[in-house]
Amino acid sequence: MIDLFQRDIKYLQGVGPQRATLLQKELQIASFGDLLYYFPYKYVDKSKIYTISQVDGNMPYIQLKGKFLHIEVVGEGRSRRMVGHFSDGTGVVDLVWFKGLKFLIGKYKVGVEYLVFGKPTVFNGRINIAHPDIDKAEAAVIEEMGLRPYYNTSERMKRSSLNSQALEQLIRHLLQSIEKERMEETLSPTLIAKHGLLSLGEALRQIHFPQSPEMLRKAQYRLKFEELFYIQLNILRYSKERRQRYKGFLMETVGDEFLAFYHQYLPFELTGAQKRVIKEIRKDMGSGKQMNRLLQGDVGSGKTLVALLSMLIAIGNGYQACLMAPTEILATQHYETISQLLMDMNVKVELLTGNIKGKRRAQILSDLSSGDVDILIGTHAVLEDAVEFSALGMVVIDEQHRFGVAQRAKLWTKNTCPPHILVMTATPIPRTLAMTLYGDLEVSVIDELPPGRKPIQTIHRYDAQRAGLYNFLREQIEQGRQVYIVYPLIQESEKIDLKNLEDGYQQIVETFPQYRISKVHGKMKPQEKEAEMQRFLRRDTQIMVATTVIEVGVNVPNASVMVIENAERFGLSQLHQLRGRVGRGAEQSYCVLITGYKLAEDTRKRIGIMVQTNDGFEIAEADLQLRGPGDLEGTQQSGIAFDLKIANIARDGQLLQYVREVAEELIESDPNCERLENQIIWTELAKYRKKNQNWSLIS
Ligand code: ADP
Ligand code: MG
Repeated sequence: MIDLFQRDIKYLQGVGPQRATLLQKELQIASFGDLLYYFPYKYVDKSKIYTISQVDGNMPYIQLKGKFLHIEVVGEGRSRRMVGHFSDGTGVVDLVWFKGLKFLIGKYKVGVEYLVFGKPTVFNGRINIAHPDIDKAEAAVIEEMGLRPYYNTSERMKRSSLNSQALEQLIRHLLQSIEKERMEETLSPTLIAKHGLLSLGEALRQIHFPQSPEMLRKAQYRLKFEELFYIQLNILRYSKERRQRYKGFLMETVGDEFLAFYHQYLPFELTGAQKRVIKEIRKDMGSGKQMNRLLQGDVGSGKTLVALLSMLIAIGNGYQACLMAPTEILATQHYETISQLLMDMNVKVELLTGNIKGKRRAQILSDLSSGDVDILIGTHAVLEDAVEFSALGMVVIDEQHRFGVAQRAKLWTKNTCPPHILVMTATPIPRTLAMTLYGDLEVSVIDELPPGRKPIQTIHRYDAQRAGLYNFLREQIEQGRQVYIVYPLIQESEKIDLKNLEDGYQQIVETFPQYRISKVHGKMKPQEKEAEMQRFLRRDTQIMVATTVIEVGVNVPNASVMVIENAERFGLSQLHQLRGRVGRGAEQSYCVLITGYKLAEDTRKRIGIMVQTNDGFEIAEADLQLRGPGDLEGTQQSGIAFDLKIANIARDGQLLQYVREVAEELIESDPNCERLENQIIWTELAKYRKKNQNWSLIS
């Protein structure tokens, strides 16, 4: 049976080489198995047949059974159409086709019984159905008419008449040709019995051609179970293997540097949450196992200080540490903050970015490999092969969602023994997603902001309300505050976006002639960007007009207003990140979202959520619900082909949790699936790993 699943799709009756190429290109269907796992996106209930006397123009899609009285082609040129007068004895409807007449003329016969499916409308007092689906009303067809599957296809496929109906036919034939008992299982009999699952064969039949809504639900449950089970099993197995394979650096004490800093140079009392997280990290580093920890903390919650204290532990134990940030601006800012904090201590900190070249770079590299540099801060420039540490013991990755898996994994290869790893993110990942993405990471959460922060007030304004907004900005600036104005930048249309930014900048310059205004965007040279950021930080300028380059990490506590233009073009987590640039000082801060009047339903919801809450976790959950996991920031770049075929991380959270426990139980009781009944699972896991190689690199 495995062979049958893997058989090339071109050998399926009705496919052939040309259609096979199309299926492969458009839907990635290469084998019989791929086709069986190409599930419908919706079902339409065709169990009911109406009589024509019941039909009116207000009905949704309906089904009729009857015969053509007469079929004719009428009209000229663009209005040329085929009209079939169709009757079931209770009345007559006109079935009309405008397109594809070439193939249609002569296809349907007068006097033969057909099933017709479509949306009725009333035109000139007659009932019409345009481009209906038509099947011969053979007994077998009617018998199977429960829920009818609809498959997504592409325009190219439709042009080659590989539409939903054609796929349905192919799948029907394929299922018919496979005898039930020959469909091999992918789950063990114990699991199937214990969790009341349908067999694979039954589930695949019912998912395509459900006999009833209930059978459809059962089929979906079985297939989701299987899908989530292998994802979880793989993560759990992998993390077990990893723990067995690697030891970590044992860092027994916190060391002198940590203590000196903590007692003499700490700029403020740590929050309770910061203290708790540092304890968790300290415990990991002293355990002898490699730390692999995700630190989640909302924007402004003080993750940098936690990172610094962790790095000092490594240094106190004779190791080096590395802090990697996703952008030049952010790396530079970290470098400045940390150098400042360590000013009076004997710890050597260096900055390495793509811009640091020549002699300077050579010097840093040689100091690194000799062990003179204690902390290296940088962008992904630190990953280059030429960058060699003498004893890298600890790596902090800031805003980790910006890095790909491959990049993160690369840091490991800088040692035979992997360093402790702390990844930090301000994009809170909902629990269900974290489980699927980073099942192998321990998670720490900073759930408390430093004292004295006032919650940011978020306001939604329409384009036309700008005059009022400008007055408000003027007031804020007069009180000594600074203002960000952000324009969207989406890569595909960088030119248009830059124009937006330039136009916006001009308008701001004209509106506020009395103030100095900075401008920063991605096309500027890093030095220019940096210089402009510095001007803003020093309060030389009052307004910063920018694209989303300032989204992550930038810290200017005196800035109190964030204006986001075209807010409808940003995702929720991006809006939240941008908002996090203000509210960093003691003053009341504001975020103003500007949109047009016309907003899509989803956009209105997004804006509503932003206005209602400052809680990053709430926002992340909402984001997951609204967009689905494939779109979530971080899931795409993280290197996981997040192409779940049937389960939905947003909606199937509970099942995921349940399946996770099932997988844990199995790993506990039979870690290598040696029991006879579990061998099937082992085989499937191996297949799964072959298909999803990226997974094994996560974290
Ligand atoms: P994020 O978690 O977004 O990276 P940062 O580490 O940049 O946050 O910290 C945000 C601001 O809060 C910084 O100005 C930092 O100096 C300040 N901060 C951090 N911890 C504390 C604390 N315990 N008390 C007061 N201010 C703090
Ligand atoms: Mg930060």
